[in-house]
Amino acid sequence: AEEMMIRSEKMSIAGQLAAGIAHEIRNPLTSMKGFLQLLQAGIDRKEEYYNIMIDEINKIETITSELLFLSKPLTDNKQNEYVYQMVEDVIVLLRPQAKLKNIELKWEKTTDEAIYCDRSQIKQVLINLIKNAIEATTEPGDIEIELNESSNYLKINVIDEGPGISEELLHKLGEPFFTTKQNGTGLGLMITKQILEHHHGHLQIFQNEEKGSTFQVLLPKKDQ
Ligand code: ADP
Ligand code: MG
Repeated sequence: AEEMMIRSEKMSIAGQLAAGIAHEIRNPLTSMKGFLQLLQAGIDRKEEYYNIMIDEINKIETITSELLFLSKPLTDNKQNEYVYQMVEDVIVLLRPQAKLKNIELKWEKTTDEAIYCDRSQIKQVLINLIKNAIEATTEPGDIEIELNESSNYLKINVIDEGPGISEELLHKLGEPFFTTKQNGTGLGLMITKQILEHHHGHLQIFQNEEKGSTFQVLLPKKDQ
């Protein structure tokens, strides 16, 4: 498989974010205003409009809660943690969601090592990647999660059977608000990259030979 590493784009993340937030929140607000005006004019199809408005509010809610995560300083709450335990916790958390789509989460480890890290942040990384894998998979399908090690790194592979990622899109992944999904926020991979940077780790993306893509997290064995 050809290796393609996400370039870490440190430039003006704050600026991109500000523009993105304004845009992402203005759209649902504009839409809600329109529907409120229709309701005010006494139009029927109220049910339908209420539903659309609730969808728009949900969108703003999701965006703001992800942004709240970003606004928290990445404080150092690092301890020695077993990586396989964090993976297992997240699999337990996401298995019901996968089951709903007829997706099996398969899990295999060849190391029991611990690393010095912030447990909730690394779990957030795993949630983001496995959720994306679930969203990319057309049911029924399998997602494989592997934990192994090289001399310097622990490696976590999240392997899906989705459509994969075209070379064109590849460099956009991790830009704030870049999403190809109807209800995406486009914040997951940015948060992921930020957390990994904070741990001196990396995210690598591979195209699978047959189908789908592999998101690989590299975490240094010793905090460097
Ligand atoms: P979101 O999931 O809200 O769209 P992310 O930052 O998590 O935001 O992902 C950004 C984009 O990257 C997705 O919209 C999708 O186009 C692409 N992507 C992420 N993971 C995968 C994957 N496993 N397979 C295919 N495309 C993916
Ligand atoms: Mg996502």
